[in-house]
Amino acid sequence: MPSWPQALRRGLVGKCPSCGVGDLFHNYLKVPMLCAHCGAPLGAVPSDDAPPYITLLLSLHVVGLVFVFINTGEGVVSFRILFLLIPLLIILMMALLRPVKGATIATMLKLDIVRRPDVD
Ligand SMILES: [Zn+2]
Repeated sequence: MPSWPQALRRGLVGKCPSCGVGDLFHNYLKVPMLCAHCGAPLGAVPSDDAPPYITLLLSLHVVGLVFVFINTGEGVVSFRILFLLIPLLIILMMALLRPVKGATIATMLKLDIVRRPDVD
C-alpha cells in the first residue's frame, strides 16, 4: 500500500488505492471484487454504511450553513428556501457519495480491514 495521502487521493478520485491505475468503481458505486490491474481485494472491504453516513453528515452541515445565511428570521421556513435547500442537499449527496466511498475503502484497505473467507 502507498502512503496515507496517496491512498486517500486515489480513493477520492475513484482509482484503486493500492496501485492508482485500476478503477475503484464499475458504475456509480459498484466496487469490483478485485482490482483489474493489481488484484487488490477492493470488493472485500466492508465499507457498508460508513460512506452514506459520512456523506449525510457533510451534506447536512453545508445545507445547514446555507440555511443559516439565507434564513430571513421570519420564524416560518418558506417554501422558496425548501425549494433551494432540498435540491442542494440531493446534489451534494450525489456528488460526495462516490469520493467519500473511495476514501473510506482506501482507509480500510490501508488499515487492512478486509473480509476474509472463513478457513475451516
Ligand atoms: Zn489496483
